[in-house]
Amino acid sequence: MHFVVCLKQVPDTSEVRIDPNTNTLMREGVPSIINPYDAHALEEAIRLKEKVGGKVTIISMGPPQAKEALKKAMSFGADRAILLSDRAFAGSDSLATAYILTVAIQKVHESEPIDIVFTGKEAIDGDTAQTGPGIAQRLGFPQLTYAIKIRNIDDVSVTVERKTEGGREVAKAQLPALITVEKELNELRYATLPNMMKAAAYEPEVWQAKSLPYDSSHMGLKGSPTSVSRIFPPPGRTGGEQLDATNDPKGAVANLVEKLFQQNIIMQHPLAKGGEA
Ligand SMILES: Cc1cc2nc3c(=O)[nH]c(=O)nc-3n(C[C@H](O)[C@H](O)[C@H](O)COP(=O)(O)OP(=O)(O)OC[C@H]3O[C@@H](n4cnc5c(N)ncnc54)[C@H](O)[C@@H]3O)c2cc1C
Repeated sequence: MHFVVCLKQVPDTSEVRIDPNTNTLMREGVPSIINPYDAHALEEAIRLKEKVGGKVTIISMGPPQAKEALKKAMSFGADRAILLSDRAFAGSDSLATAYILTVAIQKVHESEPIDIVFTGKEAIDGDTAQTGPGIAQRLGFPQLTYAIKIRNIDDVSVTVERKTEGGREVAKAQLPALITVEKELNELRYATLPNMMKAAAYEPEVWQAKSLPYDSSHMGLKGSPTSVSRIFPPPGRTGGEQLDATNDPKGAVANLVEKLFQQNIIMQHPLAKGGEA
């Protein structure tokens, strides 16, 4: 089987700060990492390859330094890595990114038919969670989103458990399909020494816009209807209020309950004393 993983190199958001003057992300000196959800997507693709046989291809769109992320991904056991890198792609929003990735996936699919495309649920820098569904729609593949377990895979279908707000849902799709993954899907492995050595010597393929039948009006800034008008950190938390219970614990509790009522955090039951049934 052929598994394709869309993998994005992202800044480590735990270290990203916002420039208060320009309202832009301060990326300088911030280490780049594989988007955490994509690491789990890759892990699942490799597990499936080990289970049913086949191949794992990774595709990333990004600047030349995204090669580092692809080489790292190779050290976990992927077979092929393709970087889509071109000035023409710069400034793409999620609509254009889905388009750019789709055209490349279609090219891969023509020579080596794909069974499953994996993406992360979301990228931790953009956070839109739109790219995976956007690719599925363009490819005409059914999509299984928020996967937390692959229950079964055979020659014609895949069954997953999905995370929903109310619990879990089991969903089945015909292959080829696209799956977006949550971190609960699996535990990440460590790279083995032979794979690390293989990855160190591996050069990811770099595809430019001219290598593929792209329509320039669908990519880059021109093909991106989204615009970011402002970016800012949420207001910092205030200190809150402290209730001193040292001398009068009962009074402090009564005071706390009163405040919780006032803010509608707790409500009186209609059948409680004094309430109207
Ligand atoms: C107006 C505008 C301009 C922008 N300009 C730039 C820019 O110049 N440079 C830049 O880096 N970003 C830019 N961005 C951000 C960039 O477009 C988004 O990061 C990208 O569209 C993906 O959206 P997301 O990060 O929300 O991913 P999500 O939709 O949250 O990602 C879901 C999954 O899709 C896959 N995926 C997403 N992006 C990629 C990728 N690039 N390669 C492989 N797989 C991927 C991953 O599997 C990921 O887990 C811009 C955004 C806007 C709105």
